[in-house]
Amino acid sequence: MLQWSTIPWLCALLLGLMGLLTSGSDFQHHRYEDMVRALFAVQSECPYITRIYSIGRSVEGRHLYVLEFSDNPGIHEALEPEFKYIGNMHGNEVLGRELLIKLSQFLCEEYRAGNQRITRLIHDTRIHILPSMNPDGYEVAARQGPELNGYLVGRGNAREIDLNRNFPDLNALLYYYEKNNGRNHHLPLPDNWELQVEPETLAVIKWMQNYNFVLSANLHGGAVVANYPFDKSRDPRIRGRNTYAATPDDKIFRQLARTYSYAHSWMHKGWNCGDFFNEGITNGASWYSLSKGMQDFNYLYTNCFEITLELSCDKFPSESALPREWLANREALVSYLEQVHHGIKGMVYDENNNPISKAEISVAGISHDMTTGVDGDYFRLLLPGTYTVKASAPGYLPSSNTVTVGPAEAIQLHFYLKKAPKQSLKGKHHHGKKNISAHKASLKLGPR
Ligand SMILES: [Zn+2]
Repeated sequence: MLQWSTIPWLCALLLGLMGLLTSGSDFQHHRYEDMVRALFAVQSECPYITRIYSIGRSVEGRHLYVLEFSDNPGIHEALEPEFKYIGNMHGNEVLGRELLIKLSQFLCEEYRAGNQRITRLIHDTRIHILPSMNPDGYEVAARQGPELNGYLVGRGNAREIDLNRNFPDLNALLYYYEKNNGRNHHLPLPDNWELQVEPETLAVIKWMQNYNFVLSANLHGGAVVANYPFDKSRDPRIRGRNTYAATPDDKIFRQLARTYSYAHSWMHKGWNCGDFFNEGITNGASWYSLSKGMQDFNYLYTNCFEITLELSCDKFPSESALPREWLANREALVSYLEQVHHGIKGMVYDENNNPISKAEISVAGISHDMTTGVDGDYFRLLLPGTYTVKASAPGYLPSSNTVTVGPAEAIQLHFYLKKAPKQSLKGKHHHGKKNISAHKASLKLGPR
């Protein structure tokens, strides 16, 4: 017999089912034209908090469209961090592309519905979403469809170049500098680098040069694990042995990777796709060493921390799997985004309160410096703790301060630098134009 007390419960269940059915209906694979239409649809639904721009074109001329979310689209506001998500770098790894389209729709809908968490995120962050870095490869894979898709068909771009083996190799230079007390950040690009990379890679590097990104993730498929730098081993000559290649920010990277894996429905459990990764995270090189990847490049060339997310065993899941995958990743995608608000941030000014760009921010004990952006603002991800932080710029006396970082949002720490007496001016860094010998791309083709 039906009791009165079960009726509200039944109603809730029915509502939930209806919600699943309606939200399930818009889950589909998006070919290029469909993806562009979906992004512009979000833009017209949420015109005041979004902007669409292209960072360049693929080999076959498809635009690499980015959807931006911000309370002031198109404008960098000092002290508001920039974040990016990149999907579908390997054309046949398609879940990231669909998740990022879905995330865009979700952010817009929740903002309109007044969701406080999402509203706050969009007000305090400038979010850039590139659902497909390799639209040409995707079309090759999609023509085959989910069932017939081979392991490698559509992985590369139209010239069959693997874009995650196509960035300038700055690791070789860093590993040399580590032994010689050389520069530890913003390493110089090799001569004629533009001629050595694919159009898609070139577009992404120019993008990194134009925006002061703080945090990023690159979405792949073929495994389920959050992979963090370095990808390239420090001793590549030891064959058959995988060695952990820690960055100076290893603890932060591990925490970032864990944020994703634990917020994901099953990544943190460790056993996935026949592999085991403790806590669902791994250092790239300790899995297998990879040269010229994008995440190492982010860390060595810019202020941005990037991790690589492997999100599905099946590189091209069927449409029916998409709703479940979205529910498994939704909280993780939002939680990871929120990590951009940790650590410290602030302004570097001269004595007349003019912002100083390209000032260096160093933290004692972490040999990886950040720099200020064009507005004189900096962002430094840090775990909770007490740190000594130094700001320096050519022609100014450096200034230090001690700060305690808590688990909540970023602590603000500003610096005011005094002009140095003329005679003490000296070049601190040697921007050696050392040409990095071109390394052969790693032949190992895992999911990354
Ligand atoms: Zn991949």
